[in-house]
Amino acid sequence: MKKYIFVTGGVCSSLGKGIAASSLGSILESRSLRVRMIKVDPYINVDAGTMSPYQHGEVYVTDDGAETDLDLGNYARFTSTPLSKDNSITTGQIYDAVIKKEREGRYLGKCVQVVPHITDEIKRRIRTIGNSPDVDVTIVEIGGTVGDIESIPYLEAVRQLIHDLGHNNALSVHLTLIPTVSGGEAKTKPTQHSVKSMREIGIQPDVLLCRADEPVPPEMKKKISQFTNIDYDAVISAHNINSTLYAIPEIYSEQGLDEVVCKKLELDTKKPNLKDWKRVRSSYENAKVTANIAFVGKYIELSDAYKSVDEALIHGGIANNAKVNIVKIDAEYIETQKDLSAVFKDIDGIVIPGGFGERGILGMIQTAKYSRENKIPTFGICLGMQVMVIEWARNILKLEKADSAEFKPEGDTNVIALLEDQVDITDYGGTMRLGLSESVLKTGTKIHEAYGSNNIWERHRHRLEVSNDYKDDLEKSGLIISGTTPDGNLVESVEWPDNPWGVGVQAHPEFTSQPIKAGPLFVKFIEESLKYGKKTK
Ligand code: GLN
Repeated sequence: MKKYIFVTGGVCSSLGKGIAASSLGSILESRSLRVRMIKVDPYINVDAGTMSPYQHGEVYVTDDGAETDLDLGNYARFTSTPLSKDNSITTGQIYDAVIKKEREGRYLGKCVQVVPHITDEIKRRIRTIGNSPDVDVTIVEIGGTVGDIESIPYLEAVRQLIHDLGHNNALSVHLTLIPTVSGGEAKTKPTQHSVKSMREIGIQPDVLLCRADEPVPPEMKKKISQFTNIDYDAVISAHNINSTLYAIPEIYSEQGLDEVVCKKLELDTKKPNLKDWKRVRSSYENAKVTANIAFVGKYIELSDAYKSVDEALIHGGIANNAKVNIVKIDAEYIETQKDLSAVFKDIDGIVIPGGFGERGILGMIQTAKYSRENKIPTFGICLGMQVMVIEWARNILKLEKADSAEFKPEGDTNVIALLEDQVDITDYGGTMRLGLSESVLKTGTKIHEAYGSNNIWERHRHRLEVSNDYKDDLEKSGLIISGTTPDGNLVESVEWPDNPWGVGVQAHPEFTSQPIKAGPLFVKFIEESLKYGKKTK
């Protein structure tokens, strides 16, 4: 029988439901179970692709080019479960599908309603994944907080699914908060109320994960258990830790989370094998050196806007037994600074990440110039690579007006241009170059050295490309075109000559980096940054 776990959140948002669901997924995988992860989002957008990073954090891209919620990135970092567009469900998609069926007359004259038609569509999508032959456990994370108007249809679908499947096949895991009030006392009341809200909807949580400042003591667990009808050993302390997030699977498992889940779901499995997570934790906790990485981007006020890049840099650190100190610098701030050596003092490496729109571009170009001239290890990702090319064209090719068609649509020196099939796009959802594609790498280049391979596959999310009109001039003037698409038509990566490590890539290698297997470019970038730091300090 297929097993399902529904992860909900109570009390308030941002408690880390995605990390909790992913950590549970990773422990179950370590018990040799075949896990799938689904994120359900109550917003009306069909996908996260058209949302501003300021609103919703990073857009995570899957192999098949789905633009999804950033929680899928957590699933990808903690587990090895395959992710595609089917693993990200939004209210927009559900209504879109139901309305299409209604227009096709497939409801045979019935009045189409939230229950059963919307809830049936939600259940169908969840079970399509859960019923696949190679799946044992499907973990479904319900976005939002219990009590939100938007999540009601989803919780109703969960209630029905638990009833349909039976309590030995479907489990409710609820994440709540135990706040500390002034005077330092931890309070269980919000948790009691949150479980009460769940029960009012008809769902009795089976497992409670309690976010708290300090480990939740046994007496408090006992009290919570009594008030919520949840077994004592199913009340788990999800307290703050002074380590990496990647220690969480181990911390949950030590408290018996997976034992409780497997017992309740009648899963007879091996003991968990968390040796990879232990290694990651120990490398993080015992790191003796630090790489100070300047991150010159656009959306830096919101910590989740570049989530996968931040995490991939940390993975690069773990691989080098180093801590990574990410110093976020607003690209617009750079534009106001006369002396960049003061800004980048004590910096060991510079990342210029992806982004959209002209704001801050000049600051990124100034950053690229400074780091190229000063031979600081530099990693340009997507927009960051395009900026490296513009900077090179302006300062080495002396094309003063070199630019991107994204910022100067009428410009006559656009070294970054739109492909023909992108010129007349008016429908902005899902129409970029999206998802996995292949690059062929030039031997002897830094990127080739990092991957140790002639052909690599990474995920893309961009509209513009290096213009082939300028490719020869760029190469002749010394810029190394280190990777192209197999047909040679599109530039996939560039490198600065005579630099210890100045690499730009059009793709987003951050999406596939994991703490237990860091993306090769992040490993090399941190390695080079550490070397640079040692030399210059
Ligand atoms: N705005 C650029 C483009 O669309 C870069 C996109 C990105 O950095 N993801 O090509």
